[in-house]
Amino acid sequence: MDPSEEETAPHRIDIFMMSVKCGNCDKYQTVVDFKKSGDKNVYTYECDWDASPGCDPNVTRTIVEVPKHLDNSTRRHEEVSYPEAPESSAPK
Ligand SMILES: [Zn+2]
Repeated sequence: MDPSEEETAPHRIDIFMMSVKCGNCDKYQTVVDFKKSGDKNVYTYECDWDASPGCDPNVTRTIVEVPKHLDNSTRRHEEVSYPEAPESSAPK
């Protein structure tokens, strides 16, 4: 028995490698928000309005929390610009 193979492959979570499906409309949800919260990364998934106009995101929204040290998605996520309202684009 040689456990070295496991040791050299630490557990990583890459949210781009998984899909989140809505239990209400049975369509795939997409990431609409990403934020850091302490030692966790928090991803918010919502139904695509185009694919599922009848699904209310306020009801079916999915929050995925990934421990930061296991999250392999962060770097790519920070490269993605979300089409949402910026917190505060005005520098002081
Ligand atoms: Zn849905």
